[in-house]
Amino acid sequence: NVRVRFAPSPTGYLHLGGLRTALYNFLFSKSKNGTFILRIEDTDQSRLVDNAIEKLEDDLKWAGLNPDEGPSVGGPFGPYLQSQRLDLYKEEVNNLLASGNAYYCFCSDRRLNLLRRDALRRREIPKYDNYCRHLSIDEVHKKLKTETNFCVRFKLTPYLRSYHDLIFGIVVNNIAEVEGDPVILKSDGFPTYHLANVVDDHYMKITHVLRGVEWQPSTVKHLLLYNAFKWDPPKYAHLPLLLNTDGTKLSKRHGNVTIDAFRKQEIYPHAVINFITLCGGGFLKTENSQSDFALRSIEELIKKFSLDLILSKNSQVPLDRLNEFNRAVLKQLISDEEQLNEIIKVTRNIIEKYCFKKNCIPVDLSDMRIKRILVWSVNRISKLTDFIEPQFSFLWIEPSEELMLKYEKDLFDSLSPLIMELEKIEKYDEEYFSVFLKKFSKENELKYSKFMKFLRSCLSGLKEGPGVSEIITVLGKELVLRRLKNAQS
Ligand code: GLU
Repeated sequence: NVRVRFAPSPTGYLHLGGLRTALYNFLFSKSKNGTFILRIEDTDQSRLVDNAIEKLEDDLKWAGLNPDEGPSVGGPFGPYLQSQRLDLYKEEVNNLLASGNAYYCFCSDRRLNLLRRDALRRREIPKYDNYCRHLSIDEVHKKLKTETNFCVRFKLTPYLRSYHDLIFGIVVNNIAEVEGDPVILKSDGFPTYHLANVVDDHYMKITHVLRGVEWQPSTVKHLLLYNAFKWDPPKYAHLPLLLNTDGTKLSKRHGNVTIDAFRKQEIYPHAVINFITLCGGGFLKTENSQSDFALRSIEELIKKFSLDLILSKNSQVPLDRLNEFNRAVLKQLISDEEQLNEIIKVTRNIIEKYCFKKNCIPVDLSDMRIKRILVWSVNRISKLTDFIEPQFSFLWIEPSEELMLKYEKDLFDSLSPLIMELEKIEKYDEEYFSVFLKKFSKENELKYSKFMKFLRSCLSGLKEGPGVSEIITVLGKELVLRRLKNAQS
């Protein structure tokens, strides 16, 4: 029975990289009929961020990655918060002390700082010199009675120098040569990441660890811990990094990649999921997919997922394509009657907030009108929040009249006969208007291109943008007549 876990530390909000780790754990477990577990690694009390746990759970839920076991749903191997498992870690540390695999360390911060400084001066990577490993039993007993500030360290051995990674193959890391003995229990009684991670993976019966490649250097250390405990380790698969298109680590610098930011921009989870699964392999090819942007359902992703197909090199994430996926999802939603109603509501909400901020009154926001605009704009926007971009504001608020000053009198004179004609027309239809406007400009001896510029300004306040007949159709009769009359006065 496959059991995997997503084990974030609540030190910040979920971002694209974290979501990918969660998603691949989810897909892998579902593809094997296994169990997907959420475990919160909150042992570093100094780095906790308020609300981070609730937010994490909420973001996962938004993405549809609901854990089978976790802090909120519970489960047979809980609690799923490490801060609630301290007794277990202490017990296991005592076992390691008893078996001679760990030892008390009484080195002061001052001594450790000096060691660090010395190493840096010699241009070496600082490491603990394993001083307390060699204290006699008597010395240890004496110090335990008088010292209050001590920690426990794990004895690294050269016993293991490599392991098999399901994605990277053989990974070599002679850790005992490179690092000093790591702390496993801190002086505040909390375990360090390494110990808690191993103990929990064991007690939660984790079979496969899928995590970011930044943890790869720790894996031999973890395997040495398993060996010291005499436990069978899980299998490890490390996921390569996601990079910006310029090769730098995915970061805020290139746009905010937190899930929170996506949600605020009305980017849909299905778009994000399709977008991340585009990078770095991991899926069997879809036969007859029409285009790159053919959306794959979560069921299809589960069916096509294969660990063996994940590439071991870092992959660049073309963030701009996220918009394309979102547009594809939006199109799908708009074409579904029930979803459309929800989209209309969300759009209205966005516009009302926008108008409130701008301190202006929105034009007609009836369901009918919003629906018409959605259908018209579906190839022009990629997310609903695009509607508050300047080029779309004419749809929602009256255009500013500044642009109108530069036009000549004959253009303004044409408005009166134009309004008369337009009042007679009942059905507002784009094709009809493209013929009508040409005819009208000829009959009234107006230069067509100038006349179009003028009308676009009257109707939208835009210098360039959609064709005038399109603007007329999407605005509808009432608004068109109102704006032309306004321009007249
Ligand atoms: N708590 C670690 C993190 O925040 C988890 C690493 C692991 O999955 O072992 O990424």
